[in-house]
Amino acid sequence: MAHFDDEGIALRAIRLGETDRIVTFLTKENGKVRAVAKGVRRPKNRIGSRVEPLSHVSMMCWRGRELDTINQVELLESFRAIRSDLDRMSPALTMLEMVDQVALERSESPELFAMLLGALRALDNRYSPTILGAFCFKLLGLEGVGPIADRCAACESEGPLVAFDSAIGGLLCQSCRRGLAVSPEVVSYLQILGTGGLARLLEEPASPTATAFEHLGLAAMEYHLGRRLRSAHSGLGLSH
Ligand SMILES: [Zn+2]
Repeated sequence: MAHFDDEGIALRAIRLGETDRIVTFLTKENGKVRAVAKGVRRPKNRIGSRVEPLSHVSMMCWRGRELDTINQVELLESFRAIRSDLDRMSPALTMLEMVDQVALERSESPELFAMLLGALRALDNRYSPTILGAFCFKLLGLEGVGPIADRCAACESEGPLVAFDSAIGGLLCQSCRRGLAVSPEVVSYLQILGTGGLARLLEEPASPTATAFEHLGLAAMEYHLGRRLRSAHSGLGLSH
């Protein structure tokens, strides 16, 4: 049987039979991988805690037709600060859910992997609502539908820009306005993000603007996915 080594971030896990789990990973080189973790629900199993959702691991798997099988796994990062703080766990689970939705099975996606790992490290370091908001818009960019933020998405005028519409995919001026009203501060967040200012944006403290930016990112992402994100509305922290 063929095997492969890779790095992965566990996105979710479901029960399989009495003692096993099927764990979905986003990997660095093999895209989304679904792998059986055998015996992990037995008491005192050493592998079980390493394949909980969020864990960043290095692993060796046997390649199967539909499901792979985890042979060896080592924990690289557990993101302990995220796990012990519900304010951070909710956005982290929402990011995992979004990635699970967009990632393709067994299709290399190093940019997506790097983006998720970077966002989880930022969140583990410090909580800010700009992290989830920025992740939503960056992910839309990776999907080829990044928001138009430097001009009106309908008439191309410079603005002032006062609204955001997911169907058009960007900000709108006073005369073209539709969708959601946005403040000048949220407009500037989108423009900072659109001009390579991610690091600067992540320095922004929690504020009503940061929260409005997060909600806008989630709304745009849910529009793109065509469904609600369960983790974003689970009551773990975020409310709409
Ligand atoms: Zn316009």
